[in-house]
Amino acid sequence: MSTLEQHYQAVRQRLNQACSAAGRDAQDVKLLAVSKTKPAAMVEAVYQLGQRSFGENYVQDGMDKITALSHLDDIDWHFIGPLQSNKTRTVAEHFHWVETIDREKIARRLNDQRPDHMPPLNILLQVNISGEEQKSGVTTAQLDALAAAVSQMPRLCLRGLMCIAEHTGDEEKLAQQFRQMKTLLSDLQGRYPQLDTLSMGMSADMELAVACGSSEVRIGTDIFGARDYPANNG
Ligand SMILES: *Cc1c(COP(=O)(O)O)cnc(C)c1O
Repeated sequence: MSTLEQHYQAVRQRLNQACSAAGRDAQDVKLLAVSKTKPAAMVEAVYQLGQRSFGENYVQDGMDKITALSHLDDIDWHFIGPLQSNKTRTVAEHFHWVETIDREKIARRLNDQRPDHMPPLNILLQVNISGEEQKSGVTTAQLDALAAAVSQMPRLCLRGLMCIAEHTGDEEKLAQQFRQMKTLLSDLQGRYPQLDTLSMGMSADMELAVACGSSEVRIGTDIFGARDYPANNG
């Protein structure tokens, strides 16, 4: 077994254990493999192990892999990085999900630029659940208005919420934030019953996120290894 396969299987196993510990069905929590800065060959190797959903943070780095792997046409590509106006067209034309929407203007551009022959682009709204100043994401007070706007856009399909947890060793604080995300999603589901996705949990806090109701964990380091340099090519 290659190191990559060992890592991947270990993450799968951890996720299965986290689900059973939480009394949840393993089918209910999707594993998103975060392949940012890693080469297409590594993505293809993980694809060969059965993985189908991949997350990318940088438009050009992601496009290089989408192009190189276009023969694998059942990959779900998730854009999970900050998105600037001048890059929305590329994302609208090539990705299946965008998880980081926190401004109506960016959503509107994606809606206008999503090609007619493609299914609507799946959207998660990013919530700044810790309220840290430097973090992206809407405040809880802004969430309803953004959800209302996005739900009206015909080329987008609003699917749920996403957060990046606070860097803290305080598990109880973290759990409170994760539980609050779950409550925010449940509230929105009353108005938008199609919402089915709560993206939270990374390598360091996957188990807690699953216990608090995550339906998608985003795992990079524990599958692909440490990132030794940040991709700086947009
Ligand atoms: C990099 C990244 C991840 C993966 O983080 P790891 O700690 O490497 O598992 C998840 N979500 C987002 C938004 C990221 O940018």
